[in-house]
Amino acid sequence: MSEGLFHSAVKRLYSAAEHLDLHEDVLERLKYPKETLAASLPVRMDDGSVRSFKAWRCRYDDTRGPTKGGIRFHPAVCMDEVMTLAFWMTFKCAVANLPYGGGKGGVSVDVHQLSRTELERLSRAYVGAFSRFIGPDRDVPAPDMYTNGIVMAWMADEYSRIADEPTPAVITGKPIALGGSLGRDDATGRGGYYVLRHLEDDLGIAPGKSKVVIQGFGNAAFHAARLLHDDGYQIIGVSDSKSAIYDPDGLNPYDVMEYKQKNRTLDGAPTNGKAKTMSNAELLEQECDVLIPAAMENQITGDNADRIVAPVILELANGPITPEGDAILNKAGKTVIPDILANAGGVTVSYFEWVQNKAGYYWPLDEVQDKLQKIMRPEGRRVWDVSKEKGIDMRTAAYVHALDRIASAVEAHGTKAYFDG
Ligand code: NAD
Repeated sequence: MSEGLFHSAVKRLYSAAEHLDLHEDVLERLKYPKETLAASLPVRMDDGSVRSFKAWRCRYDDTRGPTKGGIRFHPAVCMDEVMTLAFWMTFKCAVANLPYGGGKGGVSVDVHQLSRTELERLSRAYVGAFSRFIGPDRDVPAPDMYTNGIVMAWMADEYSRIADEPTPAVITGKPIALGGSLGRDDATGRGGYYVLRHLEDDLGIAPGKSKVVIQGFGNAAFHAARLLHDDGYQIIGVSDSKSAIYDPDGLNPYDVMEYKQKNRTLDGAPTNGKAKTMSNAELLEQECDVLIPAAMENQITGDNADRIVAPVILELANGPITPEGDAILNKAGKTVIPDILANAGGVTVSYFEWVQNKAGYYWPLDEVQDKLQKIMRPEGRRVWDVSKEKGIDMRTAAYVHALDRIASAVEAHGTKAYFDG
């Protein structure tokens, strides 16, 4: 992500506001993050030397509740990116009606250059630096790029050590044995799947008839693929960072995953016989009814959007379509189910984890999935309805729907009109 990204993200706020009768106080409150803390994390390396890593945490807005958002370990992380991601989280939590504001954190680091002990010391140092910024009722982190369950376990442990009491609700995405929620592993793919299936009549797609191409074959991609496949959608293409496979007669995602786990490649994965290997870029342009970008940012851009054939695009990845790409897709009449709705299943089950930690009472898997479904389906419907009522694309509709909720919370404190009166 580049400098200036925050500036362009905030433009979404203003374009959504055009469709609502908002009080001016709302935009004034939301145009800057509430607080952003930068820190330097000195870490003792295995060779005895000390290295300092730049780190940030942003709490964008907490009007609707504690801020919520992941911690990213990546060399390109910068403050502009952290603020932008915290802004997106504010809207994602509001779309799903979670009682949260948005936050995000990051460390500028290449984790591949760290040993496991160095990674543990870095993770604990992050919590040490931000221990007064985060907290179970203040700001609740989670995993993001290059952070995972064990990093969350170290972080929860470090926070609990500082607080001098077990505090599992300070962070989500923990291993099950340490208070993680059942159903968190497939929540992102499952949430997108619930939205897609709920809107299938409106979208003109159906099991047994529609073909799906998925970019990526990681956590979000695989679970969406297997759930759609189980219901009778045909998965005809998947990819990883190295290559893509496409078979117009359909792939079995379970067999492909088993092959990939064994061989660490998609090349040679089992198909129905007509398979072609191709680049990731080519896969996006194949004939299909639903395209699911589920890998990374900026995959559909001003350069390739006019070659996308799929009429429906479900954004499981965060930010896979650039604003230029989005404009071209909209003009071509494609329906994009935007990331802040499509992948909100992940943060929703993170919310369930936090609720279970606070209650000290843990739910069975079917209860988690039932509660997830009861959020994703109606919120998906509402975004669809806003888009039709206002004649706007689904991305703008999702921002309008979220902003409406955030605005109600801001306005409930009284607006200029109230104080003038
Ligand atoms: P993951 O690491 O499990 O999988 C990522 C997949 O993308 C892998 O198959 C990888 O090979 C592939 N990939 C990497 N670089 C690629 C490239 N250049 N071209 C094509 N494929 C490439 O990650 P994930 O958790 O499935 O996350 C995928 C996306 O979903 C990310 O954008 C993430 O931010 C978003 N997301 C995930 C969650 C979650 O709970 N897992 C929640 C919200 C959003």
